[in-house]
Amino acid sequence: MTIAGKVVAITGASSGIGAATARHLASLGAPVVLGARRTDRLESLVAEIEADGGQAVATRVDVTEPGDLQALVTTAVERFGRLDVLVGNAGITKISTVADLDVEGWSAMVDVNVKGILHGIAAALPVFREQGSGHLVTVVSTSGLKIVPTQAVYAGTKNAVRTLLEALRQESTDGVLRTTSISPGYVRTELIDHAVDDPAVREQARQNMADLGIDPVAVARAIAFAVDQPADVEIGDLTIRPTRQG
Ligand code: NDP
Repeated sequence: MTIAGKVVAITGASSGIGAATARHLASLGAPVVLGARRTDRLESLVAEIEADGGQAVATRVDVTEPGDLQALVTTAVERFGRLDVLVGNAGITKISTVADLDVEGWSAMVDVNVKGILHGIAAALPVFREQGSGHLVTVVSTSGLKIVPTQAVYAGTKNAVRTLLEALRQESTDGVLRTTSISPGYVRTELIDHAVDDPAVREQARQNMADLGIDPVAVARAIAFAVDQPADVEIGDLTIRPTRQG
C-alpha cells in the first residue's frame, strides 16, 4: 500500500502545516484523523475534505494530555479499522532569549513539542506492533539544525524529538516501524501569532514570515513523499526550507 488507503492521524491539524497535510493526504486518498484543541476549525476542515470526496474525522486533542492521544488513535481504529501513520505535528514556539527567563514558556514548549510527541508514541506504538506496521512522522525544524538567538529552548525541543526518533529507529529494526523527521524552515502559518507578547516584535516576526516563508502545502508534499514510500523504504530526515533562507 502506498498513500491511498493509508489511515493517517495528524496532531495540530487545525491550522498551518497540519491542516495543509490533512487536505493534501486526503486528496491523495488517505482517510485522515484530525486532532487539535480548536474543534470548530477541525469540523470545518472535515466538511471541506468530505465535500471534496475525501474521508476525515476529527477529535479534540490536547497533546499535553496522554489520554487525548489515546483517543485520537482509538478514533482512527474505530472509524477506519487501523492506523498506518501518526503525524506528530502540533507544536508551539516562544521568542525570547534564555536570559529573559521565560520559565512558563520553556515548560509550555517542552510539554507540547516533546511530551506531546511522547504521548503520541505511547498511544500509537502498541497499535503499530499489533498490526505489524506503522509510520511515525514528526515535524521538527531547521531551528534545531542552525541555532539562532531567541530560539534556544524551541530548538532544543525539536532536537530532542529528532534524537528520540533516531533511537526509536535503531530499536525497531524488525521492519515494523518507520520513522521520519521533517525539518521545515520558515513556513507561512500562525506559529508566530502565539510566539511573543510584545506586539512590535510579533509584527516584525510576522513580516519576516510573510516575506520569506513558503506555503505550508510544500511541507505537506514532503510528508506525502515520506508516507508514499513502499514498506521497505524509510525516509529518515527531510529538510525543506525557502530557497532564500540563510
Ligand atoms: P500553527 O500555529 O499554524 O499550527 C500549530 C498547530 O499546533 C495548531 O493546529 C494548534 O492547534 C496545534 N497545537 C498547539 N498546541 C497544541 C496542544 N497543546 N495540543 C494540540 N494541538 C496543539 O503553526 P505551524 O503549522 O507552523 O506549526 C506546525 C508544526 O510545524 C509545529 O510543530 C512547528 O514547530 C513546526 N514548524 C513550523 C515552522 C514554521 O515556520 N511555521 C518551521 C519549522 C517547524 P490548536 O491551537 O487548535 O490546538
